Amino acid sequence: MSAIIEDLVVICPYCGQSMEIDVDCTGGDQSYYEDCQTCCMPVRFLINVDEHGNLSRCTARRDDE
Ligand SMILES: [Zn+2]
Repeated sequence: MSAIIEDLVVICPYCGQSMEIDVDCTGGDQSYYEDCQTCCMPVRFLINVDEHGNLSRCTARRDDE
């Protein structure tokens, strides 16, 4: 099974700037934090992967929502 890394551009929910993240789809559904490259706030990413190992949804959320 080869690693599937998706490059994504998402909008930071804190400052509204776009940021790039790498998602490893082989891990299945996951959520993790990554600091925004612009405002350094911890953005929570919710990653959904479908049954074929393809990224189906990526949601960026504030921690206080
Ligand atoms: Zn930001």
